[in-house]
Amino acid sequence: MHVLGRRDWLHGAAALACACGREPATAQARVGWPFAAPQPGPAWDPSLDWAFDGRDAEPMPVPRPGDWLAEHEETGQDVVQFLADEPNRPEPPRDTIVIQPLAMVHRKHVGPIQPSLVELVDYVGRFFVLPVRLADPIVMDRRHVGVRMNHGHEQWNANDIDGVLREQLPGDAYCCIGVTTTDLFPSSDWNFVYGQASLSARVGVFSLARHDDAFFGGPPSDPVLVRRRGHGVVTHEVGHMFGMQHCVHHLCLMNGSNDREEADRSPLQLCPICLRKLQLSVGFDPAARYRDLAAFYRTYGLLPELAWVNARLARARVSPSSGFSSTTRTQIFGHSPPRR
Ligand SMILES: [Zn+2]
Ligand SMILES: [Zn+2]
Repeated sequence: MHVLGRRDWLHGAAALACACGREPATAQARVGWPFAAPQPGPAWDPSLDWAFDGRDAEPMPVPRPGDWLAEHEETGQDVVQFLADEPNRPEPPRDTIVIQPLAMVHRKHVGPIQPSLVELVDYVGRFFVLPVRLADPIVMDRRHVGVRMNHGHEQWNANDIDGVLREQLPGDAYCCIGVTTTDLFPSSDWNFVYGQASLSARVGVFSLARHDDAFFGGPPSDPVLVRRRGHGVVTHEVGHMFGMQHCVHHLCLMNGSNDREEADRSPLQLCPICLRKLQLSVGFDPAARYRDLAAFYRTYGLLPELAWVNARLARARVSPSSGFSSTTRTQIFGHSPPRR
């Protein structure tokens, strides 16, 4: 396992195998977080208030027993803290999100990937407004990746996979996210992990194994629901690689989650605070991004997501041009090359 700092690795949506040893967070500490919306900061454009207005964003609900925030003491990251953390940002030559299919020697393939890799590439590109490249599959090897059986499921060690990906990080990769249909675990005291990603090392991995009830021996799940879960976990993990920590401010894609029920409660969308972080890093026009996402949701039958995006677009009172350009981004981050 690579030790990259106390806050560096974030496990996305995972189940703990045992008590984490911390006192449950108090509900009050998680509700009424002082930043209901991004604070006006660098290069604030009033014409985009509609996109970052937090007044109608859903607040973070009081954690239920077993929820992520009931078991993990996370305090959140507002926009000011995000910038102070000096996150990576896409800059040439590292300006492409690489999706890296993974395979394991001797392992039988269990069926078609849902959503398809082509669909994942399409969605991630629209979500992050960056080029996305599907890499040729690489084969994991038991000499480099730990394997165990857990409740009848083969699982690969996600930390080992991240180590392999770090050593092979392509030169054009802003980040590289491995994808597998095999179940993952991060360490011996966790039951599984849907995915994990580094805040700074540009690598992460996620699994599509658990999104269909067929994995647990039940009848196949609604394919639209399986598709939604797959897109949720990949964008959550890639979001971490933009330096976004788990969100405690609103119901948000970047919420941590302990199980599938909790993950299903989180939307596919970023809350205003997390959207602002991504926009500061990438420099997109929020209305154009939402239109691209709406086309995707319409094509693939993700109708609640389509309705949500259309409602946001209805609030866009101004022209599609946001005035937020790469020049503005440079004014915020300076001219220095990526730190890592
Ligand atoms: Zn996460
Ligand atoms: Zn958020």
